[in-house]
Parts: sequence; structure tokens; C-alpha cells
Amino acid sequence: MEYADAVAVYRELDATDADLEKIETLAEALAAADDDELGPLVGTVRGKVFEPWVDADLGVSSSLTAEAIETATGVSAAEIESVWRESGDLGDAAAWAVDHATQQSLFSEPLTLRRVHDDLRELADYEGAGSQDRRVDEVAGLLSDADPEEARYLVRTALGHMRLGVGDGTTREAIAAAFLDGDEAAAAVERAHQVTNDLRLVARTARDEGRAGLDDLGVELFRPVQMMLAKKAEGLEDGVESVADDPASVRAEYKYDGARVQVHVDGDRVEVYTRRLETITEQFPDVVAAVREHVTAERCLLDGELVGYDDAGEPVPFQDFSRRIKRKYDVEELVEEIPVVLHLFDALSHEGESLFDRPLSSRLSHLEDAFTPADGAIERATGHRFEDLASMRSFYQSALEAGHEGVMLKNLEATYQPGNRVGYVMKAKPVMEPLDLVVTRAQWSEGRRSDYLGRLFLGCRDPDGGFAEVGRLSTGYTDEELAALTDRLTDHVVAEDGRMVDVDPAIVLEVEYEEIQASPEYGSGYALRFPRFLDVREDLAPADADGLERVERLYEKQ
Ligand code: AMP
Repeated sequence: MEYADAVAVYRELDATDADLEKIETLAEALAAADDDELGPLVGTVRGKVFEPWVDADLGVSSSLTAEAIETATGVSAAEIESVWRESGDLGDAAAWAVDHATQQSLFSEPLTLRRVHDDLRELADYEGAGSQDRRVDEVAGLLSDADPEEARYLVRTALGHMRLGVGDGTTREAIAAAFLDGDEAAAAVERAHQVTNDLRLVARTARDEGRAGLDDLGVELFRPVQMMLAKKAEGLEDGVESVADDPASVRAEYKYDGARVQVHVDGDRVEVYTRRLETITEQFPDVVAAVREHVTAERCLLDGELVGYDDAGEPVPFQDFSRRIKRKYDVEELVEEIPVVLHLFDALSHEGESLFDRPLSSRLSHLEDAFTPADGAIERATGHRFEDLASMRSFYQSALEAGHEGVMLKNLEATYQPGNRVGYVMKAKPVMEPLDLVVTRAQWSEGRRSDYLGRLFLGCRDPDGGFAEVGRLSTGYTDEELAALTDRLTDHVVAEDGRMVDVDPAIVLEVEYEEIQASPEYGSGYALRFPRFLDVREDLAPADADGLERVERLYEKQ
């Protein structure tokens, strides 16, 4: 495919905002593409020269591109910059410069899509001294052979600013329209995309092997798969009812607050991918080591959550943990500072066998066979099947008390549905609008936290100017937060009786919870279910706390 023909397609896509027109244009172009141009076309219309899981950087900045335009055309840097500034797009500046070139290349060869695509990919391999100069030369070489329109799109592609309004969805529809017939065509393309995560392969397979070929596509190691997602439940009961008709086929698991990861293993080779399918293997040498040591399967693909823990064994807030994901240098330092545990909850392939179409119960047996748990390094996600809702409720409470976010509810009969929020997985966590409540009484904890006032009774303002209790709080805070709260509360103690203390209403806390129940247990007539500490409202006085009327309103609304 001449590059000029690809550019004509880009221009047509650029010229319309209508999805259907985009799909039609792209479908026509895909159907007409030569054998080995299909992949580059599918990539470049979405502005990509690499497959999504390839962790490569072309190393092409705006200034490098401007230099390449100058080298190719002889137009001065000042002029290029002025056009660039005016339009805001270096692609436009490249087109203008090629049109006003003061020098011509002697041996101009027409560009092909393949050449542009492959040459750009090569830029990512340049390393070390002189690599930037080589990049400038390479891009300048391409621009010397380009006409103005080609230069415009070449630069946009190199900079990753293609912006044709063509996403994965449009591309899938176009592939279906180009190569398949029938109602289910788009769904078949979508499924193939979800398991392979490779639209180039999907397009090629649809063209060469049709529906049957697409249906045969399965997982391949080191090509991450889109992850199955959860829907939000309105509380535990709703979650159980939504996830399966029969409560006996529901598994509840802790919902960990960390990073979703997919771990691919083939012998000694281990790669860790995020939910966005980016590689984070280098940031987690400790995880790689744990996987090498404790995964007994030769080849497998496992799904789980990475969580950072503090010295006391409490999960660290996500903001702290995310430092580990971002840090690419001096990684060892952070490995010490924030140790992580890999909590595994699913297996998508095991010893070469794809498990997508198996029920969760079977995938879990494969997971069990694939590794030997090691405390504090690599563990199964804590979870069970429950005989009744009451025991599931106490499991939920124990998840919150252990500092986790809530629970996941999973249908044990369901297959793995990549990328979908289909309702075979539901999440239940305290989700109601937070309340600002005053601490009215407190209780000294037992055990590890016995120096702390770990259980706090909370009140809302009542119409008489006092405070009516609505529940008690014992989760959601770190040891530091609890120590600070204890310090402050001891200044306000008015009476003590055993482990119970009465305090002056002085401190306002922001609290989340799952539900408000009518309950005779507290003075307000209401009780918060599963309350969780969010923050101390330093900015609020007790008189600014939420009143009973708001609690009533929220109760009515739910
Ligand atoms: P959310 O991010 O609130 O939509 O919740 C879904 C996320 O919860 C998943 O993508 C996982 O990262 C995370 N998660 C934590 N624990 C589990 C678990 N036991 N099973 C599945 N997902 C979990």
C-alpha cells in the first residue's frame, strides 16, 4: 500500500465525526489492504505503531521532530516553530515545511505504509550515545520522501498524536463489516479481541479464516488479556441475589485495595501486567522472585491483586502503594519500604490449557494446583462459599476490620468474561454518601491495639441541641491515625467506666457505611451498617456535624 493511499484513508476518517461513516471508510480500506499492510493499517488508524502490550517508546519528542523537519526541508527552525505555534500541531508545520522546502532529496522513493510503520518501530531500538541524532536522521529520511499530506500524518504518527477518532470499538466494527457476515459478527470480533488483545491478529484472522478462526483464538502467554470486571452491588444481599440464582453457588472474597495484576509464567520467564495491560515487571522484582519460587506450574496465566502492607500487617492506602508502580529506579529501596503480597484469585490458563470457558470453580482448582501459597508473599485471596447470609455478613465485617475495602461476590458456575462487567462478579463495599459525625463515647481496644481508643461511638446532632448516637466505628483507620485520635480524645474524657469512656463532643469524623438501618440500639433510632473511618474533619465544629434529619432523609432514600 502506497503511503499516499493510507493517508487518503486517514484524511477521510479525519473529515467525519460520524461513527458509521468512519466504520464504512475503515472497512473499505481494510478490505482493500495488501496482505502485510493490514496490521500497520489497523495500528496506525488508532495512532499506534506497537501492539498494546509492547512496552516500547519511539523516543520522538516535538523538538526532535522539529529538527528532523528542518533537516529534511531546509526550512529554518524559526519558521517551523512559527507555523507550529499558530496551528498547535507539528504535523501541520511539517506539511507546510515540505511544501516550502528549499532542498529536495536526490533519490526520492515513494513511501509505502509498510516502510513508514517499520522505520518508526525501529526508532524504539536505538540506544545510547548518538541515538537521538540517528532518530532525527531517520525521521528526516522519511520526510524527505514525503509530500505535504504524507508529512502531516507521518509526524502525527511518530508523535502519537494521530487523533482520527478511531478507537478499538470502531475498529472492531470495521473488521466485522470488512470480513464477516451475520448478526453475531461484531460479538465474535469483540470476543477475539478480548482474549488476544491484538486487533491486528483479529483482523488478519477474520480475513483469512473467518468466524471459525476467530472462535479458535485463545490466550497466549505474554499477550495480556483484558480483565473481567465487577458490577457494583447495593449492599451484600443485593450482590448475592444479582450474582447467581442459587446462593450456594456464590463465593465471597475479600476485596483488596491494591493493583489488579495479571501474571504470565513460562518457566523462568515471568511478566506482570496491570489492568491497563502495561508491563510492571521491573518495578516488582520481589513479586517475580516469589512467583519463580512458589508457582509450581511450568506455564500459567494467573489473575490477582497486588497489595502493599505496613509493618503492622495492615494494607497501606493505595496512594502509598502506587509509588511502587510508578518507581522505575532504585526499585530495591521501595521493595524494602513497602512489601507487597500477591493475592491470587483466578487462573486463565494452566499448562497450556485455556480456562476461559471453564466455570470459576474449576479455574479455582487449577489455581490451587498452580502454586504453593507462601504467607506474606503469594497467597490465595481469602474467600469461601457460605451456608447463610448471616455468616457472609460476618465475613464482610472481618474483611473491613482487616482493613480491606469490602467483598467481591462471584458466581462459581460462571466462565471468565474478559473486559466485561457482566454481573457474574459483584462488589459490595460501604458506598453511601459519607456522614460527618461527632465522637460521643469511646472504648479502649483489646490485644494489639490496647493502647488505643479503637471503638468510637458516633452521634449526629439532634433537635434538642445534643447528639444522638447512630453507630460505632472500629475500622478504616491506620495505627497512626488511631494513635492521633486517641491522643486527642483523651483530652476530652469526662468519665471513665472500665474500658468505656465518655467524651465531650469535640471531634468530627467523616464516615462511610453501607446502609442505614432502623434500630432501637442507639438513641437516634438508626444504626449505620459497616461504618468505616474516612477522615477527621478538622474544618468542622460539632455544631456543623450532620443532623438527625439528614440521617432520616438518607434512610428514606436508600
Ligand atoms: P473497582 O475497581 O472498584 O471497580 O473493583 C474491581 C477491582 O477490585 C478489580 O479490578 C480488582 O482490581 C479488585 N479486586 C480486589 N480484590 C478482588 C478479588 N478478590 N477478586 C476480584 N477483584 C478484586
